[in-house]
Amino acid sequence: MSTRSAPHEIRFTNSMTGKKELFVPQVPGKVAMYSCGPTVYALIHIGNLRAGLVSDLIFRVLRKFGYDVTYVRNYTDVDDKIINRAKEENTTTDAITKKYTQEVERDYALALMLEPTHKTSVTTHIPEIVELIEEIIRNGKAYVVQGEVFFAIDRFAGYGKLSKRNIEDLVAGARVEIDSKKHNPLDFSLWKPAKPGEPFWPSPWGNGRPGWHIECSAMARKWLGDQIDLHHGGEDLIFPHHENEIAQTESATGKAPFVRTWIHNGFLNINHEKMSKSVGNTLSARDFLSQYPAELIRYLFFSTHYRSVIDYSDESIENATSGLERIYEAKKRAREILTQKPYLQDMLQESAWGSFVADCELTKKKITEELANDLNVAGAMGAVFTLIREYNRLLGEPRASTTPSALLGSDQLIRLLEDELGEATGIGRAEPIKFLEALNQVRARRAGEGGGSDARLTPQAIADLIQERVEAKQAKNFARADEIRKSLDEKGIILKDGPSGTVWSYR
Ligand code: AMP
Ligand code: ZN
Repeated sequence: MSTRSAPHEIRFTNSMTGKKELFVPQVPGKVAMYSCGPTVYALIHIGNLRAGLVSDLIFRVLRKFGYDVTYVRNYTDVDDKIINRAKEENTTTDAITKKYTQEVERDYALALMLEPTHKTSVTTHIPEIVELIEEIIRNGKAYVVQGEVFFAIDRFAGYGKLSKRNIEDLVAGARVEIDSKKHNPLDFSLWKPAKPGEPFWPSPWGNGRPGWHIECSAMARKWLGDQIDLHHGGEDLIFPHHENEIAQTESATGKAPFVRTWIHNGFLNINHEKMSKSVGNTLSARDFLSQYPAELIRYLFFSTHYRSVIDYSDESIENATSGLERIYEAKKRAREILTQKPYLQDMLQESAWGSFVADCELTKKKITEELANDLNVAGAMGAVFTLIREYNRLLGEPRASTTPSALLGSDQLIRLLEDELGEATGIGRAEPIKFLEALNQVRARRAGEGGGSDARLTPQAIADLIQERVEAKQAKNFARADEIRKSLDEKGIILKDGPSGTVWSYR
């Protein structure tokens, strides 16, 4: 007989229904979860990192709630962007993907992300991809034209069910490519014929490479089965990527639904625009994580609900810094109290602290309730801050810190931060003295940055100027664009324009 108790219930907003629903995995207590990972051709930006951290949050909370989670995250290592990058750098696609997979893993580790159960990549799943395409063809949902395999969207009745798009409208709005081999402009490639100088693999349709969407269908099926419990990605992936994943998998297996719960995170914006390499307004995760502790970005991201947009700004950094200071000041005091010997039995104090210990228990429940409510970390944080306020108030009383119950209360507070908030969010587990020192350095640097003309610019200010330069160039105001480049150069910041936007670095 298992001694394991049933996992705690949790509700997620399922993008398929648009409703907050009780999460019911196929096998009670077990979760098969897939998250779309990054394309490995450059350093990831903090928008990509938001997607990574949301999947880490889902994984952490499900585990904490007692589910046995098999978590698969992929690296897209076959893509036009990778091929272009290899050409630019005069190297192989393998060299590019190997390098950037390692770089992404370094960022993920710096951001305190847990390791998934399986990390997968396209190049190691070609046989599974080919087999899946063959099944789709056998089931009459795809066709072959001159070495290219297309999915026939009008042979799949449910096409559009996730993105709620109307197929007729989409077809009417689609750009009709000249010489297209497609029967319908919305049909998409499952397999593309090899082009000179590009990586390829043999297949029943000739040498070629997989289309983008098929990889996730093949990898999810291999590691998790025909039908999975939970699938996550950024909201830009709803259409066409996830819509196409559904069409592919359900056409191959004949089983629906492919995914029971779809979870999508909102964008990270900067100046009200999505952070994206193609816009050129990115801040690399590496730059951020080399300047700020990982918990700061976790706090900044998780204090807004995962489905909402986050506008990255100086203010959001300030809020995260002061929130973390409150948490760690309390943790520091609690640690100090625990090193003291209780020597006083003050009845009044004993009873005051007695209700604090009970409040710790209630706060623990509240944290669980908030997380179970579609991962409401902000709500959980709110409960923690209420408790910290109470703790600080009690410590303001005379002879407050020396009773036995004060020790018990301090111990409970530390446990709550580390085991409840910390395990679920990665926030609250650090050593307080060192962490407060790191936050002090953040404050000192930021104060310096706001100072005189030779002060260091904040990443936000740099991103703003890069954005202004993009706009100036679009408006053909090249004088202003050059002026911005020059003024950044004078501050030791070099810009490099590339096909995927402008990246900056310190000289
Ligand atoms: P990509 O490498 O572009 O395929 O993106 C990897 C992941 O990051 C995907 O889940 C995207 O949806 C997500 N993503 C990209 N840009 C942003 C952004 N600005 N905010 C939030 N998520 C993003
Ligand atoms: Zn995917």
